[in-house]
Amino acid sequence: MAKLKFYEDLCKGCGLCADVCPKKILRLAPSRINAKGYHPAECTDEGTCIACLSCARMCPDVVIEIER
Ligand code: SF4
Ligand code: SF4
Repeated sequence: MAKLKFYEDLCKGCGLCADVCPKKILRLAPSRINAKGYHPAECTDEGTCIACLSCARMCPDVVIEIER
């Protein structure tokens, strides 16, 4: 099973990772704010992740790491 790690305080809440995820399991956390003042990306169902790496490749700020 894939493991996702978010360097949450680097996230600028652009949503690109959520847009590109084929499983639609990424979103901007609705009720949390990071150190930069943005709603950070989070995964809603890690068990569904297929470790395609699209989110990690898309993120302009290298926030996401995926372990296969
Ligand atoms: S690795 Fe692929 S399936 Fe998993 S969260 Fe990222 S974009 Fe979605
Ligand atoms: S693409 Fe990167 S910076 Fe943008 S919301 Fe996703 S994790 Fe945050």
